Amino acid sequence: MTASLLPTEPFDLVIFGGTGDLAVRKLLPALYHRFVDGQIPASSRIVGVAREGLDDAGYRAQVRDAVEASVPQTVAATLDAFIGMIGYRSLDARKADGWEEFAAMVGEQPDHIRVFYLSTSPELFVDICERLGSFGLNGPRSRVVLEKPIGRDLASANAINDAVGRVFDESQTYRIDHYLGKETVQNLLALRFGNALFEPLWNSSHIDHVQITVAETVGVGHRAGYYDRAGALRDMVQNHILQLVCMVAMEPPSSLSPDAVRDEKLKVLRSLRPINSSNAGQFTVRGQYRAGAAEGQGVPGYFDELGSDQSKTETFVALKAEIGNWRWAGVPFYLRTGKRLPTRVSEIVVTFRQLPHSIFDPASGPLMPNRLTLRLQPDEGVKLWLTIKHPGPGGLRLRHVPLDMSFATAFGVQQPDAYERLILDVVRGNPTLFMRRDEVEAAWNWAGPILEAWEASGETPKPYTAGTWGPSAAVALIERDGRTWAEDAS
Ligand code: NAP
Repeated sequence: MTASLLPTEPFDLVIFGGTGDLAVRKLLPALYHRFVDGQIPASSRIVGVAREGLDDAGYRAQVRDAVEASVPQTVAATLDAFIGMIGYRSLDARKADGWEEFAAMVGEQPDHIRVFYLSTSPELFVDICERLGSFGLNGPRSRVVLEKPIGRDLASANAINDAVGRVFDESQTYRIDHYLGKETVQNLLALRFGNALFEPLWNSSHIDHVQITVAETVGVGHRAGYYDRAGALRDMVQNHILQLVCMVAMEPPSSLSPDAVRDEKLKVLRSLRPINSSNAGQFTVRGQYRAGAAEGQGVPGYFDELGSDQSKTETFVALKAEIGNWRWAGVPFYLRTGKRLPTRVSEIVVTFRQLPHSIFDPASGPLMPNRLTLRLQPDEGVKLWLTIKHPGPGGLRLRHVPLDMSFATAFGVQQPDAYERLILDVVRGNPTLFMRRDEVEAAWNWAGPILEAWEASGETPKPYTAGTWGPSAAVALIERDGRTWAEDAS
């Protein structure tokens, strides 16, 4: 057994919002996988909490269905044992009824690690934390997990963090960004700091630019109401994409200790050059999808799904970000994300500089810059694009080909879901892959003025047809710098 499969200490995990989409589709299947691998001691308890009037048996039936829907082959005895750990409490976060019994139930296992996972709307975070505090459930062995979004701007994020902070110490607070639990993101740490090869090249002398794309084919669907209050910048850029920027751009931390890593990420966030009313028109592009096609089918536009044509919410954003420090001066980070794009893909593409001089006959073929592509989804893996000689006779013909390491093929295993790793990190008390409060603040400090600039401009997002890569202005954003988006490169 490898160290990564060591069992955790026994724990009680309470999932507030235990009947919700995230819990059912992601958290409970993730826990099942870790249970199958022997990492969750049998005395641990997993308790779903929501208002719905279920009993233990009713919730267990839901969890069984959820696991069976998500895991292709389950072993009956193992699934039964897992289901045996599950319980349910009907509670309304906003009402006092039932909390005393709940606290007594949690108190039955005083030695267990306690994890309170707030998989609910953030409007409930404050109520839930205050009640947990009032029943003394915030002791040193307790931790609280906060799902995104933490606020919709700096002020609302601070209000949540202040209220949670009155009950739980920062060291007990785990702000989850599931992108950080992805294998490829952790592999970025391994690639950068576990190989002598990359670090000397990882700077503006050798890197031309970085692109980060998080593309979805789906529209907003039944989440239109939620999404319309958020938009692509709040939903994807302020959290996930900025965290990826941090992992690419941070200085080598002195160790992998949580604060060493997070201190370096924070410096990146604080070094982002401001985008505000003076330059938002130059550095940002907003889009909103109209009816088109996705995966060969006709799909409605954003207004149709929202039931209103009065929205200025962006479903696509492309940005040119810059990091004002010695390592990255002059290296643009082109970031884009959107819904109803042609493919579902999340990837980081690091493009190295052109060769200073070519010794090859132009007829040998074009000399392309080296590229490192880190793909986070759908199939996690790393490709390093190199120029080689095409094998065989016929003169020296150059080819640009990837050294390709698809993790599923290379290691012959299904990659664990990010939540599997992150939930166990919470139980182990390791916050390295979670956002510290000052990171959230720094991210909002950068994103807030962009939102304000858009608001002040009075402009509407540019329309794009569903199934395309956003408005043409997003192409112009990068092409006026003499570069192109890299969707065909991997
Ligand atoms: P959801 O499907 O709407 O579930 C919400 C859950 O909260 C339900 O279990 C609901 O059950 C419970 N709830 C609502 N009001 C409550 C109250 N007053 N007291 C106690 N429980 C209450 O939402 P979700 O999609 O699971 O998302 C949960 C959170 O995770 C959101 O903040 C979301 O932004 C975030 N998130 C979701 C995803 C995802 O893939 N779904 C991904 C990332 C982040 P009752 O109505 O029975 O109370």
